[in-house]
Order: sequence, then structure tokens, then C-alpha cells
Amino acid sequence: MLPQIRRLAETTVNRIAAGEVIERPAAAVKELVENALDAGAQRIEVILAGGGIERIEIIDDGCGIAQEQLALAIERHATSKLADEALVRITTLGFRGEALPSIGAAAKLTLISRTAGQDSAYRINVSGGAVSEVSPAPGVKGTRAIVEDLFYATPARRKFLRSPRAEAEAAERTVWRLALAAPHVAFRLVSGERVLFDLPAQTEGARVAALFGRETAAALLPLEAEREDVRLTGLIGPASLSRATMGLQSFVVNGRPVQDPLLRLSLRLAYRDVMPAGRHAVAALRLTLPDEALDVNVHPAKTELRFADQNGVRSLVIGAITRTLERPVTLGLAPVAAPAPRLPLSAPPLPSYAARGFAEAELALVAPPAARQIFTPPAPASDHPLGAPLAQILDTYILAAAPDGSLVIVDQHAAHERLTEERLRAEFTEGRVASQPLLVPVVVDFPPIEAARLLAEAEPLARLGLEIEAFGPGAILVRAVPAALKNPDAAGLLRDLAGEFAESDAPLALEARLDAALARLACHRSIRAGRRLAQEEMSALLREMEATPRAATCSHGRPTFLKLSRVDLETMFGRRGI
Ligand code: ADP
Ligand code: MG
Repeated sequence: MLPQIRRLAETTVNRIAAGEVIERPAAAVKELVENALDAGAQRIEVILAGGGIERIEIIDDGCGIAQEQLALAIERHATSKLADEALVRITTLGFRGEALPSIGAAAKLTLISRTAGQDSAYRINVSGGAVSEVSPAPGVKGTRAIVEDLFYATPARRKFLRSPRAEAEAAERTVWRLALAAPHVAFRLVSGERVLFDLPAQTEGARVAALFGRETAAALLPLEAEREDVRLTGLIGPASLSRATMGLQSFVVNGRPVQDPLLRLSLRLAYRDVMPAGRHAVAALRLTLPDEALDVNVHPAKTELRFADQNGVRSLVIGAITRTLERPVTLGLAPVAAPAPRLPLSAPPLPSYAARGFAEAELALVAPPAARQIFTPPAPASDHPLGAPLAQILDTYILAAAPDGSLVIVDQHAAHERLTEERLRAEFTEGRVASQPLLVPVVVDFPPIEAARLLAEAEPLARLGLEIEAFGPGAILVRAVPAALKNPDAAGLLRDLAGEFAESDAPLALEARLDAALARLACHRSIRAGRRLAQEEMSALLREMEATPRAATCSHGRPTFLKLSRVDLETMFGRRGI
């Protein structure tokens, strides 16, 4: 028998399309918010439950869908938007007429909508492709779209979802991007129990400040450039504002939030010489160009683009960023009268040991001796293999004489970091990390999504002695810190932790996250390089190192001390052949 070709049922076709258009809750959120923006909404509210897998609700005050059009809205390839069927001039966010039928095929979709002329709202349901009658419902002007049980009708897809927390974060980030793209629209985002942001219609600068966190936004540099009919505006971070992820990068092209590879790459290239490897710039960039210079119909999800003039766009972005980064930072002070006089050439340069090896002959004699606190060592007890401290140099290294005559050089920061981490780890293993309430709780300001990410870890962090709670959108209140940390900089500590949790995209096991958090915490307690230590402090540090397993390397795997034996010294001085 020959295989028979048949037309697929409409429900099946929609399920197949749903696989492309709606691959996770974030995609459904994106399509529905785009619909609200296309409807001319001035206020959009997004409410997520269970990461959007359980429920997504989007409420807008846009033009609404007329009663007699509701059934058409959820039909495949039915759209009110595509005026130019040649697909050249696309001015709306949607145009494919695929989102609503796709969502309705994969989930339970309810639309409740009312136009200005109607005296009631009307409702329609689609559940796994089955469409209900249109019936009257209470409601004000605008549209409410409710999506429940995403992928209940397509279990194969449901299996690929990540944890509700990870899906929530992806969906939150989608709303974050859309809110940046449309600052003139009021946005409210609720995820789980939390209001992530609630923003009025505002200027672009104010929107960036609200969504990047005020402190970050205060450091941003404005940027503006034009090339033929392409215009680039926005705010970029100085290189010093580098981040562990690309999370604070937003690109908007003709009002459309995109994650375009060309724009990302251009940004990276522009920062290449000033940004440490593995770090990412902060930027909110907006590109405006004629609609016909752009193809948005590249991908069903419409997040990628094709520019007619790729090279032009790339050099516009790179050029504008490079120029902005080169601009001297003005602090609003009176200009400095005269440039500082250049050092005379005869002044000896600072010795660079790394480049020259032991360059003692060039040590500037004018420099004060960098070693201090020369002690007469008490005879080192032989049960103290790291010996007695002799001196501290550069306020960073401790020199000690070991009982066997070796010279010991300790990196005080690395050593202390390791000790603190070991102590925290021991306390944690025994389930008794002591927590120290702060006399004055500290409030730390964050981009709202990062605040949410940290707050999601509040319970495990509390087990490490760090007690945090929500303090309005984008702010976290630190109530207590691990007692072992003495007086840490709570704000810096929390920022580092946010980076630590963000760095890996895969949802790490709780242990791995706690482990990373422990190392971070330890780093914050540690004696900074550059702090003067009293002799007793140095002795205490050496004794503690001797008592601590794994004290020889810091938590980053670098050595905490070097030991030069008599043989090492004699070899280095050429008293002994190698
Ligand atoms: P598209 O957005 O590509 O047109 P959709 O499936 O997302 O396709 O929506 C189909 C149609 O339903 C839209 O063209 C629009 O007319 C109408 N619609 C959808 N959502 C809304 C909304 N929130 N407000 C007003 N009209 C809407
Ligand atoms: Mg749409």
C-alpha cells in the first residue's frame, strides 16, 4: 500500500506551531505583552504563578477585541496587523497571527476583552485546541489574557521545562526587556508572592534607573550617534561596571526588544580592550532605522533580526561605544587648571618584579623601606612549622622564620580567606552557623530580577547565617550576617553573591550553590591585602593555619604561603649547584 498523504487537523497544526512559538512560559509572556503593546495599552500588568507554568495573567487597557472578532483572534493566521502583505514595512510587534492559537493549543487560554464601544466584556476559552462559545463577562475596557497549565496538552514539551524558579526568571527577564523597550507604558510585574516592579509611564532614563538599579544607573554614560538614517541612543556602563553575566544588556530595535547576535557581538568587540575576560558590559541601547532596512521575519519568536546593512550597524555601535568610553569622565567639578607635570625621565620607574624578575638594583632609594616591624624572633617552637613572624612587607605579606631555618612568606589575605572558609564550613556541617544581627539593618539596591533571585535563596542563605528579606521592588534588607564574618560590607557581599548565583545558567544543586556562597562569604571576612597587622595578629594567623586542614591554598586554589628552605636559598644565591 502506498503511504497516504492527508491534511493534518487544525489542532495538530497548532500544536506543531506551538512548539516553535511557545517553547516556554517566557515565550507566552512575550507574545501576550506584545499584543498588549500593539493594542496601544498605556498600562500593562503581568502576574505569574509557578514560574508561569501554572498561570500567566496579562491585563491591558488597550483597544480590546470586539465581541464578533474574539473567535477569529484565536484562529490561526488571523491578524489585524499586517497592512503590508509584502512584509517590508512591519510596524507592529506581532504580525504572524500565530500566538493566540499556539497558546490555545498547548494550554488553557481565556481571553476577556472589551472595546470602548461595548457595554460589557466578552469571554472566550480555548483548551488544548477546543474552542468555547463567546459569552458576556464582567470587565473594563481592554483585554485580560489568562494562560493556565502550560503544555498540559503537549506533555513532551512540558518535560523540557526547567524548575519553576528558572522559568520564572526567564519570564521576568522577558517582561524586564519589554518594559525597557516601552518606557512610555506603565508596567507592573508580579511573580509568585512578589511585586518585582510597578512603574509609571516614564522617561527612558528613569525606566533604565528603575530596572538596572539606581546605583548602577547612576554610573551609566549617555551615548548618541547617527549614520545615514540609522540612529543609536542609550546608556552604557564604564568598563569598571563589568558584570558576571549579560543580564544587564538590553537592545531595542525599532521599539522591539531583541537578543540579536550581531548587536551583542558589536557590544563585546567595543569593550574588548577594556573588559576583563569573562566579564560583560552593562548597556541599554536603542536603534532606530527605516522599517525597510530591517527584516524581522527571521524567526517565529521574532527575537532575531536581519539588517540590510550589517556592517553599517556594527561600525555604528562599535564606534559610538568606543568614543563614549574614551570621553573623560567629568564629575561636574571645575576643570583642573594645568595637567600634572610629567615625571622627569631620570625618576626611577616603579620596579616591576613580574616583568624583570629580581630587579633590586633598580629599587628607588627615595622610596621608604617597605618592610616594617622587624622583630627579634622568639626561638620558634618546633611544633610550629610556620615559625615566628619577623616582619610584614607591603602590608600584604608576612615573613616568618621556621624552626628548620626556612623562610616562610604568607599572603595574609589568601591565608585568612582559607581559614574563614574552613571555619564557616565546619560550622555549617555541624548545622550551627552563628548569625549576628546587624544593629542597623542595611538596605541594598538591585535590579529587580537579581533581587528576586537572591530572595529565592533566602532560606538556604539563612542557614549560612545571612538573613535577608524583601524591601520593596529591587531592594533587599540585610538583617543578620554570619558571626564569623565580624563586620562585613553587607552590600558588597550581597552583590557578589548575586553574581555567584547568576554565573551558571544551569540550576545548580543546592550544595553547589551553598559551597559557592561559602567561598564568597569567606572572601568578605578576610583581612584585606594592604592592612597592617600587629605581631600578635600575625602569630595568631600562623598558628591557625597550622591547625587548619587544607590551609595551604586559598579558596581560589592559589597558594597561601611559600616556604624557602636553606637549600632553596643557597641554590638561589649560587652557593650550591642545582
Ligand atoms: P498577531 O499579534 O501576530 O496579530 P496573535 O495571535 O497574537 O497574532 O493575535 C491575533 C489578533 O488578536 C491580533 O492581531 C489582535 O487583533 C488581537 N489581539 C490579541 N491580543 C490583543 C490585545 N491584548 N488587545 C487587543 N487585541 C488583541
Ligand atoms: Mg501577537
